[in-house]
Amino acid sequence: MIKKRKKLNGSLNLGIIILLLVVVCYITIMLFDEAYGGRFYIPEVEDDMDVSKSYDFTEDDIMKIDDIVSEKNIDYLLENNIDKTLALGIINETYYIDEYLEKYLNYHVINSNLSYKEVVARVNSHIDVEFYTETEKTDESLGKFVILNKHYYASKDYKGESLIVVDKEYNLYDTEFMLAEECYQAFLKMYDDAKNEGFAFKINSAYRSYERQINVYNGWVEQDGVILADTYSARPGYSEHQTGYAFDIRDFPLTNDDFSKTKAFTWVSENAYKYGFILRFPLGKEYLTGYQYESWHYRYVGLEAAKYIHDNDITFEEYYEYFIRFNNPRNLT
Ligand SMILES: [Zn+2]
Repeated sequence: MIKKRKKLNGSLNLGIIILLLVVVCYITIMLFDEAYGGRFYIPEVEDDMDVSKSYDFTEDDIMKIDDIVSEKNIDYLLENNIDKTLALGIINETYYIDEYLEKYLNYHVINSNLSYKEVVARVNSHIDVEFYTETEKTDESLGKFVILNKHYYASKDYKGESLIVVDKEYNLYDTEFMLAEECYQAFLKMYDDAKNEGFAFKINSAYRSYERQINVYNGWVEQDGVILADTYSARPGYSEHQTGYAFDIRDFPLTNDDFSKTKAFTWVSENAYKYGFILRFPLGKEYLTGYQYESWHYRYVGLEAAKYIHDNDITFEEYYEYFIRFNNPRNLT
């Protein structure tokens, strides 16, 4: 009996010692781990977290943005723990479109090196998705504001408005060209003024039907392959030549392929906006327009839009999305 009790006492003592050792080891490991932020470390969480406070949005912040940000998006910011500096940085960008808030934030996650301005410009131009994926039918009723690019497409039957035949005098070749009437009238004014100042150019492409674009695009694909052809030629339905509001010009009589090296180009690039035209695919904006720099391709958008695009150095993609599609206030200067 006594022997048994001694044995029992002995094993109890050993048990307590082992337990103490385990506890000491555990505390040591946890302290060490916490100090170094290791894998066992779990940060403390406050139970009654106040959502708006924890993300630093004050009532005042919300008041300042609630005329541009919908209630739904304000809830989204608060519920998803969006960083305040990031959110306000994007919301305060000039061409911020509230419908795209979530897209901007997602695009920023994978492109955190870009400025907020760039994030907004790229998402507004739909280059957050690959070209020719997730495309949308363009609003064909918008006349001179119809947009066609690698995101927006038109139906086979769409062909601008009131197309009229261009007088042969303005053609580089003996081909029949057509343009939307408003665009043609503006072209005639620009042509006359350029001529009076000693510069000459001729049209070498204007309206192109969907069917014609099939031949043009397939021809380039046959010659250069799809990848290269896509950098300078639009797939059928995606070419803005289908609107009748776009044309290509060459200097005359030189017919230089590189129009950008001509004096006529210098004049046109400085003056086109005064007639309602924009250089549609500018140098340095290839990543937004999806096309190589084309010094010869002009698009009619009317006097007000052309001046705004020229003065603010933006693309038609950016202008369209902000001013036309989402009809944002025009009180920008
Ligand atoms: Zn063109």
